[in-house]
Amino acid sequence: MIALSLAEIASVVGGQTHDIPDPSVKVTGRVVRDSREVEPGSLFVAFVGERVDGHDFAASVVEAGAAAVLASRPVGVPAIVVDDVQAALGALARHVVERLGATLVALTGSAGKTSTKDLIAQVLQRKAPTVFTPGSLNNEIGLPLTALSATEETRFLVLEMGARGIGHIRYLTGLTPPKVGLVLNVGTAHIGEFGGREQIAQAKGELVEGLPPAEAGGVAVLNADDPLVRAMASRTKARVILFGESGEADVRAENVTLTESGQPAFRLHTPSGCSDVTMRLYGEHHVSNALAAAAVAHELGMSADEIATALSEAGTLSRWRMEVTERPDGVTVVNDAYNANPESMRAALRALAAMGKGRRTWAVLGQMAELGDEALAEHDAVGRLAVRLNVGKLVAVGGREASWLQLGAYNEGSWGEESVHVSDTQAAIDLLRSQLRPGDVVLVKASRSVGLERVAEALVEGT
Ligand code: ATP
Ligand code: MG
Repeated sequence: MIALSLAEIASVVGGQTHDIPDPSVKVTGRVVRDSREVEPGSLFVAFVGERVDGHDFAASVVEAGAAAVLASRPVGVPAIVVDDVQAALGALARHVVERLGATLVALTGSAGKTSTKDLIAQVLQRKAPTVFTPGSLNNEIGLPLTALSATEETRFLVLEMGARGIGHIRYLTGLTPPKVGLVLNVGTAHIGEFGGREQIAQAKGELVEGLPPAEAGGVAVLNADDPLVRAMASRTKARVILFGESGEADVRAENVTLTESGQPAFRLHTPSGCSDVTMRLYGEHHVSNALAAAAVAHELGMSADEIATALSEAGTLSRWRMEVTERPDGVTVVNDAYNANPESMRAALRALAAMGKGRRTWAVLGQMAELGDEALAEHDAVGRLAVRLNVGKLVAVGGREASWLQLGAYNEGSWGEESVHVSDTQAAIDLLRSQLRPGDVVLVKASRSVGLERVAEALVEGT
């Protein structure tokens, strides 16, 4: 964090100082909520969780060097006491980003936020010091903590914003108001909670509503290929930049192909020039993510060549997203078990088909959660697509939804041993261990709650 005194922090968050002998002492370390991450000069934020109460760690974090605790009650060691710790954390983040000289980039969407955020960070980092959301910490706590990790040197701050309902993104943009706002897509993630795609679009579009007007440098980066995102242009005063494969896009891809190993290659077009990209990431869904990253980077002053080089060298920064492991026996394991929704299931199956040309392919799939009334139809459609893409074997793992995946495959003409349904991850592991042959390619993918990474990890163990 930029160095702030305890007195300044108390005044920003409207808190009372307790047990602080010297309020001019500065917080010079990270602001953290996990006691294990405390370093000398940290500010420790005490949340009351379901199982643990951060206040219980107050003495130990101060012993470990924390300058003070942000707390909701006095704790016997230096503390800034407030009524609402989350609101205080947000107010502090807002204060700090206003003082930073950094350009804030925020992004949201149904699928690909983390992948795209990691791409943007890897591209912008080549130009200037960049701080970005670690992993997927995109909510009302992770977002301010990330913003607070920026320092005076930070030039770009890239923030993933997640929405689980109307008003969430508005709250987040209120904490860290972006200058560049990117919306990737409106899919069906969390559709059960939202009630429909229109409502999802309504919630995600809050990102561009809050942007500064074009005259003040606000830029909305929107997906030209997604009609619900494209339509958000009318909800912003910022300048609109479109990315996508559509001809009207300002930043677009031409000649998109997948290399034999399933990595996308394309010619990147920007308003100021063209350049060729061959990605290290797997799956054609990354073309859209790469174009989004390119549009942001171009807006922030990078050339097509610089962007193309960075995109071609970018790797995965976050785990379990199309993580490819080659086993010594020639089996390829694709661990995409981090999460799944209908869009990403389709993209992953197409990547599997590309990687598996001339090889035997396996799709080990589980439930896509939170689909509400569309759950049956969406699982059925994924099962059907697996058959249409000539996936060799479908292993559906789990309960009712898994049986719908298998049913879809059956309806598309696959029966018998080509598609099987097993009840849990251990059964899937046993089946795969006994049936995998050298040269096979295995995709493992489901929603987070299914825990299919256990299968992927069991398959690569010891390699
Ligand atoms: P979360 O809401 O959990 O934070 P996210 O939006 O950050 O998710 P990622 O973690 O990047 O998304 O990716 C989630 C899944 O979606 C992965 O399995 C990934 O392969 C897939 N995916 C990534 N980009 C896209 C895209 N543009 N379209 C469809 N699927 C995608
Ligand atoms: Mg994420």
